[in-house]
Amino acid sequence: MRDSTNEVLRAIATNGPISRAQLARDLGLSGPTLTQATKILIKSGLVKELQQTPSTGGRPATQLGLAAAAGQIIGVKLAPDHVTGVCVNLDSEILWSFDEPFEAQGNAAIKELTLLLKKQAKKVNGQLIGIGVGLPGVVAPGDEGITDSVIFDWKGINVGEQLSLALEVPVLLENDVNTLSITESLYGRGRDISNFLTITLGRGIGLGIVINGELYNGSHGAGEFGHVNAVKNGEMCECGKKGCLETIAGDPAILSKAIALGLVPKNSSIEKVRVAARGNKQISAKIFKEPAEAFGIAIANLINILGPELLLISGEGSEGWDLWKPWVEAALQSHVVETMKDFEIEIDPWDDRKWALGATAIVIQASFSRSGAVGKNPQDIKKRLQVVNRNH
Ligand SMILES: [Zn+2]
Repeated sequence: MRDSTNEVLRAIATNGPISRAQLARDLGLSGPTLTQATKILIKSGLVKELQQTPSTGGRPATQLGLAAAAGQIIGVKLAPDHVTGVCVNLDSEILWSFDEPFEAQGNAAIKELTLLLKKQAKKVNGQLIGIGVGLPGVVAPGDEGITDSVIFDWKGINVGEQLSLALEVPVLLENDVNTLSITESLYGRGRDISNFLTITLGRGIGLGIVINGELYNGSHGAGEFGHVNAVKNGEMCECGKKGCLETIAGDPAILSKAIALGLVPKNSSIEKVRVAARGNKQISAKIFKEPAEAFGIAIANLINILGPELLLISGEGSEGWDLWKPWVEAALQSHVVETMKDFEIEIDPWDDRKWALGATAIVIQASFSRSGAVGKNPQDIKKRLQVVNRNH
């Protein structure tokens, strides 16, 4: 049997505040079924009615939103040398944020992270419902949050389980490009777009895939875009394969090439490479033509397969997009099939807090997941929500 109540709750949690009419349309539910479901939710204290006067005047429209203002969620984005985090209420309003140094490599990393999160959790005024963590790596489905991250040198570590036990609060993990995609899908540019791609440039090259408004996660994860092949028998990649896109288009590869060609001094930063390229068309072509063309062709392949409406380009490397753009656009022009050419490319300004906000959304979404029981953690979150609402 279809669990309409849970479905309605999930839709309010992820898209609300929302009207009953919109809910009925979005979920394809009949009037009586919807009324019954919202009645149960309002009675349980999870959902409340909000009066909103339309800006055009006229009758106030009643909208439904989550009721639990006392419940809070922490979301963090882990980077190799720091952690950025936000604390939100159930309406996803950011209450406060933080930025702390963190050494992701080495044996002490999980312990350091635990202490850091403990300190933040103490700042929560009210009930902490859960913590979402976005990180550059692959997270296996399941409560243990088993994580592999080449960048952090983490191999099969049960990060979720360790953090949940130490912090005594559910901790859910997700790939960081996916958390950014979730943010865009719920609150950002992708809110009204069914099919879009988020592509990140920088040390690695990442991809978040939203299809029919839902993050696509494959059966074994998805979006290993940095590891599509770009060069036959090319350089060895961190992943153990040869000639991956990252080996020519990741920031470290671009930097090494610029140094090897003598275009910038040794020990330069990627920013120095950009400055040199911006002032000189020849240097720009020498450094950026090859990686940007390979990147453009790889994106064209994606577009031909998935037919998205929008491509969001983000990540720290997107600050150099002006240098990539002409080559990428030429490659797309040459390789995207005619019927798929109706898409836009936008630069999504780099902001770690946005990624952290997506990590809070995985906690909200997990607790309202369609199956209702993805594992022990979402169940724990649900219980916490109900406690919050009883006390509220
Ligand atoms: Zn690779």
